[in-house]
Amino acid sequence: MRTNYISERVYGMSRDCSGKEPEAWILDRMSWPEVEEQMENGMDLVLIPVGSTEQHGYNGTFGVDTGRAEGFVRRLAERLYPRALAVPAVPYGIAPHHMNFPGTMTLEPETFIAVLEDLVDSMYRHGFRKFFLANGHGGNRPAMTLLMGKLRARYPDIDASWASFTSAASDIIRENVDSSTHGHACEAEISQAMYLAPWSVKEDRRPGEVVMSEEEYQRRQYIGRAETFDDITRDGALGDATKASWDLGKKIAEKALDEIADYLRDF
Ligand SMILES: [Zn+2]
Repeated sequence: MRTNYISERVYGMSRDCSGKEPEAWILDRMSWPEVEEQMENGMDLVLIPVGSTEQHGYNGTFGVDTGRAEGFVRRLAERLYPRALAVPAVPYGIAPHHMNFPGTMTLEPETFIAVLEDLVDSMYRHGFRKFFLANGHGGNRPAMTLLMGKLRARYPDIDASWASFTSAASDIIRENVDSSTHGHACEAEISQAMYLAPWSVKEDRRPGEVVMSEEEYQRRQYIGRAETFDDITRDGALGDATKASWDLGKKIAEKALDEIADYLRDF
């Protein structure tokens, strides 16, 4: 029991959720001879979860983004077995807009890009040529796009892609979430965290205390302004995480897993 509890907390998934052994596709459970053996068996795709250590209001911990990304990637690797290798998550991202909330840690964009480039380069040197980065934090998006351009220029022989995996299930979110503001520590995100990284969710959840007017908030769709997250919400949350559920999290995550696994099958 204790082993299962620890693995739930650390990995966000139980060891025995499938008939296969996670030791065969999760790097930090493998030895180098096992990696070598899997590569000989056709493992050719590296999956890198990318998170952030940032506040999630009263509703979630600093581990929500990283936990979601890692939980997602481990399930994705399992689906793509034996082709894909899930490596440990990058727990830091670009979050200067959350720095007014204590505990948030951020990287400069240049540092973030350099770290990811080094991680890709490490696996390139071992012979991998296919990379997929699963991003769990909106603030990382512009840098992920820049990273793809840099990788393309530096390594003409690799295939690299990234996705903010939640976007692959935006139809499910539209159908199930009616809060006018959502996208952070809200019902959509906390539901995913319940399913992908249950240890990262707090019990005492509350609706976000949005302080920005509806009009100003909508204008953000096309006006980019220098702002911090506390300009938008007093407690750091949007939407209404009291409506979050494991079932909705499962719907969102499984839709995104279907879409992205489909894409990567021919990658
Ligand atoms: Zn988040």
